[in-house]
Amino acid sequence: MSLKAVRGRLLSFRDDPYVAGEAESHDYWADGLLVLEDGKIKQIGEAAALLPGLPQDLPIDDYREHLVMAGFIDPHIHYSQSQVIASYGAQLLDWLENYAFVEEQKFADPAHGARMAAFFLDECLRNGTTTAAVYCTVHAVSVEAFFEASHARNMRMIAGKLLMDRGAPAGLLDSAQSGYDQSSALIAAWQGRGRQHYAVTPRFAVTSSAAQLEAAGALLGEHREVYLQTHLSENEREAEAVGRLFPEHETYTAVYDHFGLLGPHSLFGHCIHLDDGERARLSHSGSVAVFCPTSNMFIGSGLFDRRRARDERFPLRTALATDVGGGTSYSMLRTAGEAYKVLQLQGQNLAPLQAFYDITLGNARALDLDRHIGALKAGGEADLVVLDAHATPAMAHRMETVEGDLAQELFVLMTLGDDRAVRATYVAGERLHKGAQTS
Ligand SMILES: [Zn+2]
Repeated sequence: MSLKAVRGRLLSFRDDPYVAGEAESHDYWADGLLVLEDGKIKQIGEAAALLPGLPQDLPIDDYREHLVMAGFIDPHIHYSQSQVIASYGAQLLDWLENYAFVEEQKFADPAHGARMAAFFLDECLRNGTTTAAVYCTVHAVSVEAFFEASHARNMRMIAGKLLMDRGAPAGLLDSAQSGYDQSSALIAAWQGRGRQHYAVTPRFAVTSSAAQLEAAGALLGEHREVYLQTHLSENEREAEAVGRLFPEHETYTAVYDHFGLLGPHSLFGHCIHLDDGERARLSHSGSVAVFCPTSNMFIGSGLFDRRRARDERFPLRTALATDVGGGTSYSMLRTAGEAYKVLQLQGQNLAPLQAFYDITLGNARALDLDRHIGALKAGGEADLVVLDAHATPAMAHRMETVEGDLAQELFVLMTLGDDRAVRATYVAGERLHKGAQTS
C-alpha cells in the first residue's frame, strides 16, 4: 500500500482514566495527521509539523472538523442473531427457545451463513466497529462463512463455533467429541491466519454437558493463544438451571472454573448475579467480565454493578459490548450511552472520556490486543473511526452550546449518536465505509 494520510481532530487513549486520571489518560491533536502505510500508522502528530516532511502529492482524507479515533471494539456479539434482534417479550431461556434457536438452525446452510456474515460485517463497519468477539452457531460452516468474510475484509476478528450438546433442538446439537474435533479443525484453519483469532465457545453451562466443558478446557490447554467466550450469570432462572445441572459445584462460576475455563483470555458475558467468592475467582484468574447494557435491559436480566467490579479486594477486568441480538444496537456509541443509564440507576457514573476509553483501548486490553489496536500510535494498526458530533439536527442543535469542549462533545456523541455519526471507518488503512456527509 502506498503512503496516505488522514487529517482530523485526533483523540487517542494512553491509559484508563479511572487509574491515570482524565488529563493523563489521553492525547488530543486539534489539527492532527495520521500517516498510513501498509495498513499501519507510520506517523502521528500535528498536521503543521508533519506536512512539510511529506510528499506534495500525498493523498489526504480531510476530516478537519471531525474526531478521528481508533476503531471501536465490541467484545461480545452474535453474528447469527442479526434477524433475532428486536424479538418481543421474553426473558433469557424463553427468548433463546422462541427466537434464537429458531434462527440459528438456518446456519446449517453455508449460503445463509455467508449472507449473514456479509451483512453483519458491513453493519459493524457502518457503526465504526472494526474488531469484535463473535459467536457463530453450532455449525462449523457458520464459522467458515464468518472467517471467510472477515478475512476478505482484513478485519481483526475473534470468533468461534458454539459448543452445545444438550438443552436445544436436535438441529443445534453437537457432541463433546464432534464439538472438540470441529473446534480443533477450525483452530488449525483460522487461528492466526491474517487477522483472525479463534475463541472456544461453549454457549453456557445450561447447554453443555460436563464432558463438553471438559473438552473445551482441553482445547484451551492445547492452544494457549485462543480465547474462551461464554455467558455467565446473566439471568436468575439461568443460574438456577445451572445449579440443578451441576449440583456438585457450589456456584455457576465454580462450574467453569472446575473445567479450566477461567483465565486472562476468557470472556464471560454479563456477570450480573455473582457472589463475592465468584468475583474473587474471576479476579484472581484474570478473567474478563463483559458488560452488555442494552441486552441486560432488553432481556430484563439485571444491572451490571461496575462499582463492585472495581472492589479492591477482587477487582475484575471488564469490557463493554453490544450482545446483539439480545442487545438492541450495533452501535458502541449507543451502548456507551445505555451503560451510562444502567450505572445511573445504581448511583454510579460513566464519564465520557471513560466511556470512549472503554470502547477503544479498554476493550483492546480486555482482549489482550492492545499491542495491535485500540489506540492511535506509530506502529499500530490503522483501524479508525471518524465521528461527526453534528450528524443529526438534534446533535447539531445541542452542539451549539458545547463547542470547544471535548468531554461534552463526547457525551453528545454517546447520548445522541449512532451509525449516523460515523463519517468513515478504516480497516488496516483502507476506508471500507463512508457515511453520508451531514456537515
Ligand atoms: Zn450473548
